[in-house]
Amino acid sequence: MRGKRLNLANQRFGRWTALRYTSASKWLCRCNCGNESEVTSSLLVRGTSKSCGCLQRELSSERRKAAVRPLAERFTDKVDPNGPIPAVCPHLGPCWIWTANKLRGYGLMIDRSEGRRRCLRAHRVAWFLAHGEWPTLSVLHYCDNPSCVNPSRLFEGTQADNMYDLMVKRLGGKVTP
Ligand SMILES: [Zn+2]
Ligand SMILES: [Zn+2]
Repeated sequence: MRGKRLNLANQRFGRWTALRYTSASKWLCRCNCGNESEVTSSLLVRGTSKSCGCLQRELSSERRKAAVRPLAERFTDKVDPNGPIPAVCPHLGPCWIWTANKLRGYGLMIDRSEGRRRCLRAHRVAWFLAHGEWPTLSVLHYCDNPSCVNPSRLFEGTQADNMYDLMVKRLGGKVTP
């Protein structure tokens, strides 16, 4: 004998409401969205089944929307504007430090806004947000801090400019915008 069968009638499990026992430990349930389906009682009780599938669909579309949240908003979320004040250009104020993923010190940002997944470098995104267009050359730092995304100390240049700057700084000079 099975002994006691759980009486789930009218109980709610996530979006499901159990209506009536059908067979083989299954209950006919109605989802908040109106769909009805037979669900195994143990899946209801354990919380494994919470909806007809509409809940998962809504969550994944929310995740998609979050992924294409405007670039500026997602960028700002990941910036700490109270970084160190760089010795080489203190008049430019504190560095803005990228707090999310980094590669060799440079901030990285995943972007899906143009329908495909792109990995952008955060300091180039900073340039884009400040100037409204993507840089055509390398984006370089006066502050020598690769994880800095403060547009006030970013400048466009070639890798050669970068090497020149480094040389000047190593010789004790200051490079200023
Ligand atoms: Zn549903
Ligand atoms: Zn900086």
